[in-house]
Amino acid sequence: MNISKRLERLKIKLMELKKEMPLEINELIDYFLKHMTLNYEKILWILSLNEENLKEKIYKIADIVNKELNTDIITLKGVIEFSNYCKKSCYYCGIRVQNNEVYRYRIPIDEMFEIAKHGVEMGLTTIILQSGEDEYYSDDDLEELIYRIHHELKTAVSISIGERSKEAYKKFRDAGASKVLLKHETINRKIFENVHPDKDYDLRIELLDYLVELGYITGSGNIIGLPGQTLEDIAKDILFMKEHNIKMIGMGPFISTHNTPLENLENGSAELTLNAYAATRLTIPYAQMPTTTALGTIDRKFQYEALNCGCNVIMVNITPDKYRENYNIYDEKIKVDLVGTAKKIIEMGLRIPPYTMRKIYEMEA
Ligand code: SAM
Repeated sequence: MNISKRLERLKIKLMELKKEMPLEINELIDYFLKHMTLNYEKILWILSLNEENLKEKIYKIADIVNKELNTDIITLKGVIEFSNYCKKSCYYCGIRVQNNEVYRYRIPIDEMFEIAKHGVEMGLTTIILQSGEDEYYSDDDLEELIYRIHHELKTAVSISIGERSKEAYKKFRDAGASKVLLKHETINRKIFENVHPDKDYDLRIELLDYLVELGYITGSGNIIGLPGQTLEDIAKDILFMKEHNIKMIGMGPFISTHNTPLENLENGSAELTLNAYAATRLTIPYAQMPTTTALGTIDRKFQYEALNCGCNVIMVNITPDKYRENYNIYDEKIKVDLVGTAKKIIEMGLRIPPYTMRKIYEMEA
């Protein structure tokens, strides 16, 4: 269906919905239909919702916008967590360099290729390479791996490896990486600098802008529940991503992790995370927005619920268990597996990409 047909259908559905909505939601629908986005005040209003009845209505609107403008297909992406060595000291993160309770591992490049190959055979069409900030892998090593995965396996490659040089990111783009994830974590400089002792705020944002310029489908996102963070900060995170052309948005609650400086801080709120997903869908309607593993770690139920609040992607973990068990960026991190997740999505009445569906059937037969 072409875009103008989709817009027309969306408009009809939202106008129909207006008949059963209170005044403030009707105003929000009108604003959205006029501007195809939300402003700061409206985002803030959604973030602040506590009343179940109103939240349900907003989630429904975000869901309709997602499914009418995008589709009801939930994209599954496979993540390989290839190294938990990290030179950084982020206060929230379990694999920070100071955490000497972590058993460190690195997956050899050839093994990474084999894992990616298996992932594609299982039905995945995007492979995400994620790690701590680990310079053991040279730019050339990663460039070659990206080239092989993209060209030999005919699959999309996404990278999530932190602050490599601009030259490195250019090489990876030329080698075939089309997507990149680099969370800004929070757009509030003071909060950012309080949890990132290397105070790399400007560097990270400059790099994000450069990644967009290079033509990557660029992903960013925040952590919900950082110390001192307000709803206003989260609203500004969402607007920042809109203004900086971010197309993939990963927002997850903070999870308190032992042996880190924030180990005594309460977990972020799952309810607020759902509100943030809905507000983001209505602000950046075409975004790819995963329902995050961090949310699933608080409660699996919320991770699936988010697929009806505006999220349209889920990342499944294809890291072999012997490594994955040590990629503890936060405590009790769950394993999101491909087949179980695909079945659950179908059970919910949603769809998965036809290629993934076919491969799962073949595997099960
Ligand atoms: N090193 C890369 C980078 O900095 O972009 C990617 C790996 S990093 C471990 C992936 C993401 O994990 C971070 O961007 C952060 O948002 C998230 N993360 C780490 N610790 C967390 C925690 N305790 N709670 C929630 N999210 C966390």
